[in-house]
This record gives sequence, C-alpha cells and structure tokens, in this order.
Amino acid sequence: RPLDRSARVLVAGRRGLVGSAMWRHLSREGFTGLMGPGSAELDLRERREVFDWFASARPDVVVLAAARVGGIRANSTRPADFISDNLRIQVNVLDAALEHGVERLLFLGSSCIYPKLAEQPVREDALLTGPLEPTNDAYAIAKIAGIQQVRSVRRQHGLPWICAMPTNLYGPGDNFHPEHSHVLPSLIRRFDEARREGAPRVVNWGSGTPRREFLHVDDLARACLHLLEHYDADGPVNIGTGTDLTIREAAEQVAEVVGYRGTLEWDPGQPDGTPRKLLDISRITALGWEPRIGLRDGLADTYAWYADHLGSGV
Ligand code: GDP
Repeated sequence: RPLDRSARVLVAGRRGLVGSAMWRHLSREGFTGLMGPGSAELDLRERREVFDWFASARPDVVVLAAARVGGIRANSTRPADFISDNLRIQVNVLDAALEHGVERLLFLGSSCIYPKLAEQPVREDALLTGPLEPTNDAYAIAKIAGIQQVRSVRRQHGLPWICAMPTNLYGPGDNFHPEHSHVLPSLIRRFDEARREGAPRVVNWGSGTPRREFLHVDDLARACLHLLEHYDADGPVNIGTGTDLTIREAAEQVAEVVGYRGTLEWDPGQPDGTPRKLLDISRITALGWEPRIGLRDGLADTYAWYADHLGSGV
C-alpha cells in the first residue's frame, strides 16, 4: 500500500546517518508531514518525554532509525551503554507508537544480529541459530529484542509493523570519530589526514582479512520506503548489495578516492570482529528493489561530504 504523502511521519534519529538519509529521500518523494525532533528537544531514552511527544505530535508513521551506534571499538569497550540506551530508545518509541495507534512502523535492525558463524550469505532465518560475535553482542541483543517486540505487536495487535536489517552502512552524515566510528569513515579520516601531513604510512586495525559488505545509506533509504509500501510480513528483511570484499581491498579503494599514496599497514593486536558478514538479499530483490550506488562512487560522495564538513567538528 502506498503511503499518503501528507501523512505525519516521525523519523526518529533524524540527525543520524540513516535518519538524515531517510529525511532527504522522503522529502524528495513529496512527503510534507515529516517530523524529526533532535535529542535536545526529545531524549528518546526518557519514557515520559517520548509519551508526551507522541500525545501532542500524533504521528501516523514511524521510522525508528534512532540508536546508539558505533564501530568495533566503541561497541566492545562500552557494551553497557549500547545495551541500555538501545533497549530504552526502542521500548519507549514502540510502546508510545502502540498506545497512539501508529499505523505503519519500520524498525531498523542490523546485520550484527546474526550468529557470528552463520552460513554466508546470511538469510533472514539464520536469526537466533547460534552465538553472536562478542565485540557487538550487547548492541545485537538490544536489536534482537526490538525485532521481537515488533513481531509481538504484529501478533498481539495485528498492526502491519515491519523490520529491516541493513548491512554495514556508510555515506554522507556518517560519524568520522577516529576511535568510535565504523571502518570506512575511520579510514577516510585517517588517510585524508595522512595525505595532508605527508605521512609515509598509516596503520589500520586488525589483519585486513575480514570480509564486509558496504551499502550506501541513500540506497538504504530507498529500500526502507520500498518496504513500507510493498512489504507486510512477520520476518525481517535484509538490505545489502549482495557483494563483499576484504577490509584490505576496501582500504585500497579509500586510499585511491582520498588520493593517499603511502603504505597501508595492519595492526593484528586490534580485533577483527566477525570473519565475514554478507547478507542474502533475495527477499528484498524479489520485492523489486536493488542497490544503485557502487562502492567507488559512494566513497567519492562520502569523501566529498567529509571534506565539506571538515571545519564543522565532525
Ligand atoms: P564491524 O563490521 O562491526 O566489525 O565494525 P567496523 O566497521 O568497526 O569494523 C570492520 C572491520 O574493519 C574490522 O575487522 C576492523 O578491525 C577493521 N578496521 C580496520 N581499521 C579500522 C578502523 O580504523 N576503524 C574501524 N572501526 N575498523 C577498522
């Protein structure tokens, strides 16, 4: 069912990588009732604030893209923050959405919810079939609880709420913190600084051999709207590109895009995380969506955004 372009749509997490891409895409698609309170206006971890906000704003549609997220180091050093903040954000938003009869809701999960050693490419039915990757198990368990809450609301209340499981994301608006960000923004920043300083070598984390799949966040935003309009079933839906590469290969592409010509070195003392993370995307491609932005173009676009925003505290 198509969404009414005048519907009141809450994009929770509107300032984040995913939420800002959703906002751009929905605006382009003609949505006129977008709502995206920032964290200063509405702290989603505070239940009372969330219920009060829903009572006055009365959204018809919710895209739940708000979360505490981070790369392998942030997740492994601050697991208590990751599990507590994410559980609170989702329980508050999902409960308030239920109380106020929100018609359509999309919850964003993550590919790290799947077992560490799941058969590759990972199908949606691999969920809860084995142990998680320990570097992000706290975050993953919070997300699994969110998926289960959405399914439970479907079962108990019959609302057509759905879940999407994006692979590793990147793009404009990402977090480029040197310690806490994900691999591509970390490398963009590191290589850009090394190029400007004329550093002959850079040291990246881990062995460089893990394999990852990277999806540009604008492709994800298109997929999310596509699902809201074309999907209504209990199971989560993977969103990815269907191809992966090693971290070393990804790093070589970042170096080319940034114009860094020094030597790439690896520090095996840093964690590799899961050895491979590639999603099976046949469920969403059967629904008529496919990715459009290749990694090279996506990296160039992301680097351009980084260069433009360098002075503004990213
Ligand atoms: P993951 O997909 O959950 O493991 O999260 P990340 O995006 O943080 O890391 C992906 C892979 O890139 C891991 O194998 C990291 O060890 C590796 N990696 C190499 N250099 C870096 C870096 O500078 N930052 C991050 N975050 N990861 C890096």
